[in-house]
Amino acid sequence: METESSNMDITRLIRPNILNLKPYRCARDKIQEGILLDANENPYSCLWGGMLLNRYPDPQQRKIRSVLASHVGVKIKNIIVGVGSDEVLDWIFKIFCRPERDRVAIAQPTYGMYHIMAEVYGNPVFNFFLDERYDFDAERFLEVVPDDTKVLFLCSPNNPTGNLISRDQILKVCEEWGKVVVVDEAYIEFSRRKSLVSELSIHPNLIILRTFSKALGRAALRLGYAVASPEIIQHFLKVKAPYNLSTITMESGLQALVNWRKESHLEDIQRERERLCKRLRGLLQIEVVFPSQANFLLFRCPDASEICDVLLEKGIVVRDRSSLPGLQNCIRVTVGTPSENDLFLSELEKAL
Ligand code: PMP
Repeated sequence: METESSNMDITRLIRPNILNLKPYRCARDKIQEGILLDANENPYSCLWGGMLLNRYPDPQQRKIRSVLASHVGVKIKNIIVGVGSDEVLDWIFKIFCRPERDRVAIAQPTYGMYHIMAEVYGNPVFNFFLDERYDFDAERFLEVVPDDTKVLFLCSPNNPTGNLISRDQILKVCEEWGKVVVVDEAYIEFSRRKSLVSELSIHPNLIILRTFSKALGRAALRLGYAVASPEIIQHFLKVKAPYNLSTITMESGLQALVNWRKESHLEDIQRERERLCKRLRGLLQIEVVFPSQANFLLFRCPDASEICDVLLEKGIVVRDRSSLPGLQNCIRVTVGTPSENDLFLSELEKAL
């Protein structure tokens, strides 16, 4: 296995057709104000909540990218925003993975969209299993990963197991594997761990995914973002639809960042997670409650499918994760408000 230096050239991993692609250009890439007769819009103002809705949104997303850049502690050239982080996943496949050829590695068991996306694009998958504590073993991965693999997907904290992936294992694979390492940090704000963003300057092959859907409490907006090297962001900008985000969405996203710490109820959710965890561990029939650094808990019980059905009859919706490898009879429950958690616990006790 060749060792890659930290100044590796990421462009050699990008699909040749994307490298050569001349992206769609808007006249407004250069100037946004003036007599705007370039985009066949209706010239008569439609103002809504202070926003001009008769005009197209900024395809370069300058305002939200610059505010997010300071929120995360990077430069604007390191950030791009998508319709949820699911759209960023789509760009990853588009710029790196030749359909039917390039393989992607997925650290399992994990979030299902990485696999779905590979199926959509027809990319073969190497399912690499996390260890018995659901951590990633970089040494073992480097030994067994097929040569035609281009991208590795890691999720930290991992959905649905809830644990963080060791920072040193992630950095080792970034350092020693000359391919792309995606770390999905959708749940990072709920954990005690700092983001890996500070490692980007050393590892240009690292892509970090973040979202407004979890701690920022804006799942309805559909806003997710990637933090990565400027080369990767440039290529994402080339493949994204010019007006992927509406003006309303971007303005609402900006508003979500103003007071996010106070409004996200982070501490309330963390406190409830610990209470829920203790209560679940106190129930005799529950075999294991996995330690969680996210806003959900995974636990194993005698008959997950039946318990989910009984809870559903009571109007309580949880997720049976039994279909994932190694997670037979495991249920994932999101941490709700204290009263929702109390209701869940009392109905679960009855169901057991
Ligand atoms: N990553 C992980 C690990 C998730 O669990 C989810 C949604 N459940 C997402 C990404 C999707 O995030 P978004 O809403 O930004 O598309």
